[in-house]
Amino acid sequence: MNTITEAALLEAVPGSLFIGGDWTDAEAGRTLDVFDPSTGHLLKRIADASPDDGIRALDAAVAAADAWAATAPRVRGELLRDAFDLLQQRKDEVALLMTLEMGKPLAEAAGEVAYGGEFLRWFSEEAVRISGRFGSNPEGTGRMIVSQRPVGPAFLITPWNFPLAMATRKIAPALAAGCTVVIKPAELTPLTTLYVARLFEEVGLPAGVLNVITTSRSADVSSPIIADPRLRKLSFTGSTTVGRTLIKQAADNVLRTSMELGGNAPFIVFGDADLDKAVEGALAAKFRNTGQACTAANRFIVHSSVADEFARRVSERVEAFRVGRGTEPGVTIGPLINDKAVDKADQLVQDAIARGATLVTGGRRPLRAGSFYEPTVVTNVPEGSDILREEIFGPVLSIVDFDDEEEAVALANNTEYGLVSYVFTENLARAQRMIDGLDTGMMGLNVGVISNAAAPFGGVKQSGLGREGGAEGIHEYLSTKYTLIPN
Ligand code: NAD
Repeated sequence: MNTITEAALLEAVPGSLFIGGDWTDAEAGRTLDVFDPSTGHLLKRIADASPDDGIRALDAAVAAADAWAATAPRVRGELLRDAFDLLQQRKDEVALLMTLEMGKPLAEAAGEVAYGGEFLRWFSEEAVRISGRFGSNPEGTGRMIVSQRPVGPAFLITPWNFPLAMATRKIAPALAAGCTVVIKPAELTPLTTLYVARLFEEVGLPAGVLNVITTSRSADVSSPIIADPRLRKLSFTGSTTVGRTLIKQAADNVLRTSMELGGNAPFIVFGDADLDKAVEGALAAKFRNTGQACTAANRFIVHSSVADEFARRVSERVEAFRVGRGTEPGVTIGPLINDKAVDKADQLVQDAIARGATLVTGGRRPLRAGSFYEPTVVTNVPEGSDILREEIFGPVLSIVDFDDEEEAVALANNTEYGLVSYVFTENLARAQRMIDGLDTGMMGLNVGVISNAAAPFGGVKQSGLGREGGAEGIHEYLSTKYTLIPN
């Protein structure tokens, strides 16, 4: 239960840039405004970094790099663990802050604190498990040592939809590996990252190891950092369109890159599925975060023998959702991030209906202020509808039918994306064929939420490069060094 008031919490969030261990104003005192998407009201005015501020932050990360790389892994791990512990003490504050700036209901924000916090704990443990190899060369004339070194200063760019978890999923492995960082959160939700930086400051992270720049001019501020030869790593989570641009920029500086990009997840329900599980899984995979997740199920591909029953049961549950401001008790669906996102969700729904889809429930904006859209179910969505091709990023569940397994796989793989797939079947042999047959970086079998700090999160095709979390996550921030010692 939150005892802190919204006003006191917002007052406690630093409103400046965090560079070299100091909280500093942006060049010329420029500011940017952060709004509550459920009311449209101003939450806080914070520093708006210039390109020069961005380079100042990189200067600080570079200055701190050697000392941090030389800091004992145990010390690095314990700082991350201390940050984890402090986050647990402040979990209610962080949850409320995310609800305010991003809109998700408080219960979901609490879930994100748990999930996002786990990256701090997981990588506090991984920091001391960075290992290499030793062996003789095949000729028997020397010994080969393979060791892992921090890749160097890293630039981290995060999206607005999971303000805590997207930050900790990058900061924790980078720091564990011995890299210093500059992080640039999304301009729509920068407050949580500023708050996290304050937590790291409180636990005594050395100055310059973590630097935060908030800006309304993402491209102008990011480009000089990415072009700077002192930067050695770029990790981005966001849309595929921006990711492509950043990969091109990173190529000029031959940067190591990690790209967690968009998704268009299929959710396949076979005729032999346990429908209770499928309905629960569908609600979680679709409506968590008001549908604004890269892992959100985008296309429900349901066997014709159960399609009507599935649609009926899902729609009944969707009609019982309560839409409102995330701080109101009992609210299950918050606002979308802004009015543009509402317009996009509505356009996708109207396009599908115009092509012949059936609207079962929702399909409009509710009569209230704020960026809301009614939870929606559309069935019989015809091939060629935009909603099957584009990321919906809203509370809209769209269903297409299929008749045989090959058709389901073909439909599921008919996308440029390949982040996650959900499959519901009670047939083990079929499940195994799906594991092999679906072009996807991750899969949920009879489950609608798969995120876990211990899992290698990431996609194939246009969904990205690299993995975050798991044993793999730290390797994104390490480079391999080989040494030969002749006998
Ligand atoms: P976005 O690409 O618009 O923005 C992401 C970040 O990049 C923000 O910080 C933004 O300020 C910054 N940015 C935008 N243009 C930039 C530029 N030219 N140079 C440098 N930085 C720039 O994405 P978004 O709307 O914030 O987030 C939604 C997208 O993120 C969706 O496509 C979603 O699927 C994806 N996403 C992916 C994952 C994943 O792990 N694969 C997780 C969450 C979100």
